[in-house]
Amino acid sequence: MTHSILISGASIAGNTAAFWLSRLGHDVTVVERAPEFRDGGQNIDVRGVGREVLRRMNLEQAALDHGTGEEGTTWVDEKGEVVAEFATDDIEGDGPTAEMEILRGDLARLLYEPAGERATFRFGETIERIDDDAESAIVTFSGGATERYDLVIVAEGVGSKTRDRVFPGENDPRWMDLTIAYFTIPRAPDDNRMWRWYNATCGRSISLRPDNHGTTRANLTIQKAPEGEQEWDAERQKAYLRDRFADAGWQAERVLRGMEDTQDFYFDVLRQVRMKRWSKGRVVLTGDAAWCATPLDGIGTTLAITGAYVLAGELHRGGDITSALQRYEATMRPMVEDGQGVPKIAPRLMHPRSRLGIHLLHGALDVASKPLVRDTAARLFAGQPKSPDLSAYPAFSQVME
Ligand SMILES: Cc1cc2nc3c(=O)[nH]c(=O)nc-3n(C[C@H](O)[C@H](O)[C@H](O)COP(=O)(O)OP(=O)(O)OC[C@H]3O[C@@H](n4cnc5c(N)ncnc54)[C@H](O)[C@@H]3O)c2cc1C
Repeated sequence: MTHSILISGASIAGNTAAFWLSRLGHDVTVVERAPEFRDGGQNIDVRGVGREVLRRMNLEQAALDHGTGEEGTTWVDEKGEVVAEFATDDIEGDGPTAEMEILRGDLARLLYEPAGERATFRFGETIERIDDDAESAIVTFSGGATERYDLVIVAEGVGSKTRDRVFPGENDPRWMDLTIAYFTIPRAPDDNRMWRWYNATCGRSISLRPDNHGTTRANLTIQKAPEGEQEWDAERQKAYLRDRFADAGWQAERVLRGMEDTQDFYFDVLRQVRMKRWSKGRVVLTGDAAWCATPLDGIGTTLAITGAYVLAGELHRGGDITSALQRYEATMRPMVEDGQGVPKIAPRLMHPRSRLGIHLLHGALDVASKPLVRDTAARLFAGQPKSPDLSAYPAFSQVME
């Protein structure tokens, strides 16, 4: 049985769902708030079962070919001297840098292009209201039009407005006491192929990461309790970062200068989305909108790809929509709960407040990077949650005409 399906959000989860559902014969429309496809964003990892889903989409090799070329992670001191190093070549399996390390925009585009062959994309449009009359979901859009769908998939990311409207008060977020700004700056001659991580006092850090576009990806991170910064406009967020990082040392001056002219500023006050249910009537949540795990475990993109695929797979298995949504939830819950298990102390341990604390962290990382223990230590940085059984779901060969 085929359905008319509306997906809100054209990033990782939304495009994966659009790819599969449109190929499985459903009539799929995607609305995206941004006026055009968003290419921005920084390094994200795809691990384990997420790679299996990409393989089933025939996109695994393309994703590897679009890798950032990052060769590992180093912690550096104020002078840029390396104090600990985890090179990918020295580690068995994934460490802080995964083998599939790709920019969010590159991966989203790899998913979007084939999805766009069969699904209809409408940019600059949002859902204003959803009424469920049991027969269908009646959706009113920002432009005023009203349309009927069998199912609405909300893939709007961590701050999803549609989720908050359809499931008011049901998200019980877990704030991780970490604020991160991601943006692109010009590459400098001494930027190398490593992710360089610098800790400054007062729980601050600066990261510089290589990319495959001739630029450098910068992160500014502050470990502190949230104070609503995610609601500020970008200018206020930048002013706040200028103030907090002015005396941070190492390459702070260069990074702050680069932030002024950057084209892709993404600011996130890290919080996990915690929902007791992911569907209500004909509306279902997926990706970060349903269960954001935060970048701390490096598993958010893997969860988004896997969840969207499981959702499409369960709808494909047939039966009524309600049963399919229940099976989707039962299949994804264990992986999500595992992926959200990162202890709240982790950001604090990685962001000491004092010089002594930074000294102790560097000592611990130095020991952890030694040959005898580094495989075990690296795995602590690489999320490996329980994986769902995908054997009942379609492969690419089944959805090609
Ligand atoms: C521009 C951007 C940059 C990012 N950069 C990073 C990064 O550097 N590092 C990192 O770890 N993670 C980043 N992320 C988050 C990362 O992509 C997700 O954590 C993960 O991949 C899960 O993807 P998702 O599709 O569920 O959510 P997201 O990737 O957050 O995508 C949500 C999509 O929904 C759209 N949207 C939001 N609200 C509405 C609405 N009301 N109506 C219609 N559309 C809506 C958004 O514009 C976006 O395209 C970024 C996300 C975006 C959108």
